[in-house]
Amino acid sequence: MTVNTSGLHHVTAIAGDPQANIDFYVQGLGLRLVKKTVNFDDPSTYHLYYGDEAGRPGSLMTFFPWKGISSGRVGAGQSTSTAFSVPEGTLGWWQNHFKGLGVESSITRASADEERLSLRDPDGLQLDLIASSTIDPRNPWDSASVPAEYAVRGQHSSVLTVADPDKTIGVLTGDLGLHLIETTGNRTRLAAGDGRPGNIVDVIAEPNGRPGLTAGGTVHHIAFRVPDAATQEKWRQELVERGFHVTEILDRQYFTSIYFREPGGVLFEIATDTPGFDIDEPLLELGRSLKLPPWLEPSREAIENSVARIQVPAENNPAMAER
Ligand code: ZN
Repeated sequence: MTVNTSGLHHVTAIAGDPQANIDFYVQGLGLRLVKKTVNFDDPSTYHLYYGDEAGRPGSLMTFFPWKGISSGRVGAGQSTSTAFSVPEGTLGWWQNHFKGLGVESSITRASADEERLSLRDPDGLQLDLIASSTIDPRNPWDSASVPAEYAVRGQHSSVLTVADPDKTIGVLTGDLGLHLIETTGNRTRLAAGDGRPGNIVDVIAEPNGRPGLTAGGTVHHIAFRVPDAATQEKWRQELVERGFHVTEILDRQYFTSIYFREPGGVLFEIATDTPGFDIDEPLLELGRSLKLPPWLEPSREAIENSVARIQVPAENNPAMAER
């Protein structure tokens, strides 16, 4: 491969009630809702994007909320945990913060330089906050719920659970350009680019693991970064030549995407860093109003009538975040 990824772009998961999802990710996790749009493949439902102030690649977590969806099952062939990067020494604060919101969490020491707080979102999605001794230089979103000194810096890593790790690791290293960091027990850590938080993938081997079922509270896909459309096009060509069934390039308005399934069953996306979330509303107003791509704009009235009414918390607006 002549093209490599520099790290994670976003993770997309399935939720139930959109309001519970917004309240948890904005007020609980302290992320910013950077885009309120619809699922382009099912415009009667939302697609909600959370991230840092600007929704930079590597900070993004997105959801398809389907009210009343049944719970999925976490298992082999899925991304089974999504980890966010927080500063060292903040996990006690986070545990208290979540306790105040009625969310139970537990702290474990994962390795000599890594501590993690594990919890579940309102739909049961497995999340970890990882405080590591590796400096994470990314600027966080400073909100009234989670002050900047504690705030999430962006993604830390994604965990993939698969029956046959060698094939998945082969794709991650041979076709996406990640490199091997270490194997401890049944967990192999890989990293892209500089290997900092946001560029890490852990592959867990579960040879007899029950396959997961993708529905509420499970990850739908994980996306890796590519700088621009021209590089994406070239990469797509190379993946097709290697025998992957890759989708056409799809316009996601804030980036363009291709998708393919890795041999372990996890759906991978490769998404561009450009154009970004301020293409259709100013940075200061991200997430404030329902944004639609040009091809859905003619159906705006019908769409607005079909999606659930939701309230975006006031601290999503930067002016309100000042204390
Ligand atoms: Zn995606």
